[in-house]
Amino acid sequence: MIRLLLVALLVAFPLFAEPPDLVVVISVDQLRFDYVDRFAPWFTERGFKRFTREGATFPNARYRYSTTFTGPGHASIGTGLLPAESGILGNSWFERDAPVDLARWDWYFDDIAPYRPKHITLTPFTAEGDWWWKDGGSPMYCTYDARVSVTAGKTIGMSPANLAGDGLADRIKEKYPEGRVIALALKDRASILMGGRRADAAYWFDYRVPGFISSTYYRFNPEAFSFNALIPGYLPASARWTPSPYIPPEEMQRATFDPPEAWPLKNNTYGGTFPHPVPHVRAMTYTPFAHRMLLDFAQHVIATEQLGTRKGDALFVGISSTDYLGHYYGPDSMEVADSMVRLDRMLGDFLDAIERRFGKRVVVALTSDHGVQPNPEIVKLRDPHADAGRLDVRTPDAKARFISDLPPARVEIERALAKKLALRFDERAPLQHALVYFFEEPGLWLNWKRIDALGLDGERVRIALRDVLRAMKHHGIDDVWTSTEMLTPNPHASRVEELMRASFRSDRSGDVLIALRPGWMWHWGSNSTTHGQPVENDMRVPLMLWGSGIEPGVYDVESSPLDLARTLGALMDVDAGGRTSRVLPCVEGRRHH
Ligand SMILES: [Zn+2]
Repeated sequence: MIRLLLVALLVAFPLFAEPPDLVVVISVDQLRFDYVDRFAPWFTERGFKRFTREGATFPNARYRYSTTFTGPGHASIGTGLLPAESGILGNSWFERDAPVDLARWDWYFDDIAPYRPKHITLTPFTAEGDWWWKDGGSPMYCTYDARVSVTAGKTIGMSPANLAGDGLADRIKEKYPEGRVIALALKDRASILMGGRRADAAYWFDYRVPGFISSTYYRFNPEAFSFNALIPGYLPASARWTPSPYIPPEEMQRATFDPPEAWPLKNNTYGGTFPHPVPHVRAMTYTPFAHRMLLDFAQHVIATEQLGTRKGDALFVGISSTDYLGHYYGPDSMEVADSMVRLDRMLGDFLDAIERRFGKRVVVALTSDHGVQPNPEIVKLRDPHADAGRLDVRTPDAKARFISDLPPARVEIERALAKKLALRFDERAPLQHALVYFFEEPGLWLNWKRIDALGLDGERVRIALRDVLRAMKHHGIDDVWTSTEMLTPNPHASRVEELMRASFRSDRSGDVLIALRPGWMWHWGSNSTTHGQPVENDMRVPLMLWGSGIEPGVYDVESSPLDLARTLGALMDVDAGGRTSRVLPCVEGRRHH
């Protein structure tokens, strides 16, 4: 009788209503939309093709905001919230109302130091009187938290303290308190922001340790760190990265644009072409050997935490090394091609292991936090007249003293702005007299102390700066807005303006915000290429789901990684996601709703 009742219940509530035993979200950092198709001829059937063959794919997936960086991307994947909702506007931003915080400034200068020859460690004694020591204000890194400390190494404390909303995992933990949520990646911001505010654990990598670390914000599990003893084993025995045989040499040319003239135009830290030296763990993080290390660590965590045995278990995996090497070598390089075909095999092994352990009781989503633009100098190899380049308006280093120490484009801005405001301009004036104080993508912050001292109207200066920048078309500037404009409704806003608004928050955004044209990027002093603009190459990424509760197919609808939180939430019977986040039509039983 009871058995009959059970059968009746199963008929009334079909199997798809049963949540999966484990939710797995994989983010491949800097996986541009075209990679899965472009490298498909050299893929196996076990990796990416498991999604395209047995799962649901969304070829029209794009981010719905302008700041296409790792921090906002992973916050969006984990929460379904726009940067304006989650507060994670970028990898870092400037907080005008914060006190002068030496730790935060030191982190900022240290972070940009690899590109700066003159880095000097800050101390309170020497800091006062330097250009950046104003009335107040400090840069903020998206996952910085002074109240916690890391489990190993010497980096700053990290937590989701800056994340302003609940994520998918938070809602899952509310409904299934016994569930366990773990996030891991090489990058702290990828791991922490995908895991949300209540993750049991988040792990990231410090090559100086070397090993995976966490912070005191999370539950401490020494078993996880036992993996660190294995890390030296991931260094190739040859101490080199040479191409795999998966793409035959005669076909490599078809998959890439990487002639010898392009090699010196890449980031040459580890050489411009194969073989790349891999003498230590840091170098390894710029190779596919680190993809393998990360996926093996994910399996180690599944096993030691017995993920999939409690209702509400979830695992967030961020493969970060794809981004590190993608920045160095660019989307058209042989290195990215080899990285992708190797990753496909490693992903295949990971998915095989998951299938062996869980059968079809698991759901796996795969996406990326952003795409990437080609290196502008390599674009110009192909077409010398291409509209591509870099704009250098960097914040100067800690010891810069005069306006003339600024990058030339910043001096040009100061000169034009002074002219527009009928002020005297002197390149040899101290940096404290500059009208623009700080740059962090995509905004400039004004020097309000100076503006007050000159008795200028702040709004007039904002508008003047906007107009100066709008006139700088030769630097790749597409459009510029003031923060006041961002705060005023505009029913006639362009698509790019809407994307910019979705990444705006008055307490964390600059006084003017700049969008560059497709092909252009901010210059950080190296040959690396980058992303971060509201352009197709940066916004469009793969979005694929496979497993329990997923109706296979190719879904041509407009979609976004922002939809994952609400979609996976629907499978887990929880409400997650922000104002643009929708349930994707691949959820079984939802197709015709
Ligand atoms: Zn990224």
